[in-house]
Amino acid sequence: LASKEVKKESSVIAVSDTVAIGGRQIVVMAGPCSVESERQIIESAIAVKAAGAHILRGGAFKPRTSPYSFQGLEEDGLKLLAKARTETGLPVVTEVVNPETADLVAEYADILQIGARNAQNFALLKKVGQLRKPILLKRGMSMTIQEFLMSAEYIMSEGNQAVILCERGIRTFETATRNTLDLSAIPVLKERTHLPVIADPSHGTGNYHYVAPMACAAVAAGADGLIIEVHPDPERASSDGPQSLKPKKFAVLMDQLRRIAPAM
Ligand code: PEP
Ligand code: MN
Repeated sequence: LASKEVKKESSVIAVSDTVAIGGRQIVVMAGPCSVESERQIIESAIAVKAAGAHILRGGAFKPRTSPYSFQGLEEDGLKLLAKARTETGLPVVTEVVNPETADLVAEYADILQIGARNAQNFALLKKVGQLRKPILLKRGMSMTIQEFLMSAEYIMSEGNQAVILCERGIRTFETATRNTLDLSAIPVLKERTHLPVIADPSHGTGNYHYVAPMACAAVAAGADGLIIEVHPDPERASSDGPQSLKPKKFAVLMDQLRRIAPAM
């Protein structure tokens, strides 16, 4: 179902009345890794909107490597995202970590994110395949492109064709960056599938210094959009502070991106 042999024209996925992914416009999703407080998410939403972002990101259910790390505000976090949407008009993307909470997340989110760690959680993929909301599917950290497309197929074969693929970096021998952002996955995916492809330079590099150059490179490679972590106070972030941009740096990056991609 994801193959270009089945459907030649690119899929354009409507998120709201004004935002669609996969068309002419490069769509930018931005916000903190985790929703931490009302003030933090509202401040982030206002800042990313002012810089020109189209969608607000923020995790309420966090799939943390350590069980002792901050696990997210859960439903309270979803409510804060909804509040930030009301205040700014930005649609929201947030992660769903298990089938049991998928209906709850779908009540609040405009796009449901499947994280890298759940990219082959087939029960979860089937569950979100039964929902009628766009799904942002991240590439698993050790997944081949073919396996990535098969995970999309799990969602689509349940009836949900609104799948957005996200290259977020893979595990390699290199330790200078958190992951290795596989830029070549973008043109390879665009050749094989009609689904939109976005890139996550934040998780792809793990270091805010490298986010802007890799964001620009991903757009130049043909990405339909980006997802970028932005935090008003990265030093005090509950998760992923080292890779989060301050709002000012994010605004500079958005200016840079507009020079590469006039349709933003
Ligand atoms: C995230 O978006 O904060 C996240 C956990 O991403 P990934 O699943 O790509 O690690
Ligand atoms: Mn994160």
